[in-house]
Amino acid sequence: MNNLIWFRNDLRITDNSSVNKACSGVKVMGIYCFDPYYFGMGDYGFKKTEKFRAQFLIETVIQLKENLKKLNIPLFVYLDSPEKRIPKFIREHDIHAVFLQKEWTRDENKARDAVIANVPASVNFEESYDQFLFHPDDIPYNSLQQIPKVFTEFRKKCETHCKVRTTLESPKARPSTNQFKNNTEVPGIKNLGLDNFSIDTRTAFPFHGGEVNAQKRVQEYFWETKKLTFYKKTRNGLVGQGYSSKLSAWLANGSISARTIYWEVKQFERTVKKNEDTYWLIFELIWRDFFKYVSLKHGNRIFRIEGILNKKYEWKTSKKITEHWISGQTEDSFINANMREIARTGWMSNRGRQNVASFWSRILEQDWRIGAAYFESMLLDYDVHSNWGNWMYNSGVGNDPRNRTFNSKRQAERYDPNGKFQALWLQETLF
Ligand code: FAD
Repeated sequence: MNNLIWFRNDLRITDNSSVNKACSGVKVMGIYCFDPYYFGMGDYGFKKTEKFRAQFLIETVIQLKENLKKLNIPLFVYLDSPEKRIPKFIREHDIHAVFLQKEWTRDENKARDAVIANVPASVNFEESYDQFLFHPDDIPYNSLQQIPKVFTEFRKKCETHCKVRTTLESPKARPSTNQFKNNTEVPGIKNLGLDNFSIDTRTAFPFHGGEVNAQKRVQEYFWETKKLTFYKKTRNGLVGQGYSSKLSAWLANGSISARTIYWEVKQFERTVKKNEDTYWLIFELIWRDFFKYVSLKHGNRIFRIEGILNKKYEWKTSKKITEHWISGQTEDSFINANMREIARTGWMSNRGRQNVASFWSRILEQDWRIGAAYFESMLLDYDVHSNWGNWMYNSGVGNDPRNRTFNSKRQAERYDPNGKFQALWLQETLF
């Protein structure tokens, strides 16, 4: 059997079902496609991927290639669409089975279906759900339709009735004969149609992609600085590296699994300290799962203007208002500071995201999907479920049972009482 691992949002070798399963084959290879589609224009006039996430992805794939090499598994990297490249690859390398993470949103389904349609039916595709904390086969619901609308209900039931699976053992290195001629190279940022940049010195975190860097961040945040023991108290912070874990970017492209983080918290609780703060990181990982289940349940309805609630609001669209929001030139300085931060770094705190989203959709009453698409373009940690789910939540078309609007003035007084965060980002005009 010749097996192929098709990497998508599972860019790691540790705790990766597809890698482990593929290793039962005689020959094992990996493939990653930088699909030009993701570097083109999206539905709302923003590039689907801006430079921050593109650079992070490049670094991630470089580390993946190195890590796979240690297992004697070659990673073939192409700047091409999977539907064009993978069928050809399967023919050329006589592949019998393809292993991949199971995804379910529009773009990912389209690519997978197009690949399957272009290869012989004898090629087996094995998909694994590897991005969850609580595996879909283990949750206490008989069907996805039973997933509750309210997070707390979901969390409590899963915490009571569902166990997080243990992480997988890393596969052993393949025999050295598993090396094949591979002249492919990871593209640079210019090949993706984007410009080089240096990281803004004010950034909340100097993100670098890759599995090794994800593990380093866990090491630092948990074990070296023990910031985990203050997590709940500091997580709403706005300035600095330590206020929250910053693990989202690695989680989003699968450089680290949610299970790995969960079991690391458990070990920390056993050996160093267990308190409300350590638990709260798991609580937040359950939010992440929740939005995945919301999109599993509702499918592509998460992208519709009515959201999953089927709400009909009078949404407006204004180019000028959009420009002001993006460039941080609204009448609200807290909103402006956050918007400049994301424009300069690809990052914004959770507090900031909630406020600018609420401001956009509820105060300015602009089509929430434009805001979500801008975030999709800019965010280092863009994750389709978390982004569109949180946007729906903050725009009154999703899972917020209280349907809140943020008062950004009061939020600024509370979370930026000395104006330190605003001063950091408002010292220059952006555009
Ligand atoms: P921590 O506070 O350290 O939390 C640990 C982990 O829990 C995070 O890494 C993340 O995986 C998860 N998590 C925390 N809060 C949430 C949440 N509200 N929803 C889902 N997961 C959560 N998160 C993304 O990963 N990708 C996105 O595209 C994204 N878009 C967002 C858009 C809006 C409008 C809002 C309000 C939130 C969005 N979030 C998104 C959620 C949240 O803001 C980020 O996960 C968080 O700020 C990342 O920082 P951290 O890793 O330091 O988080």
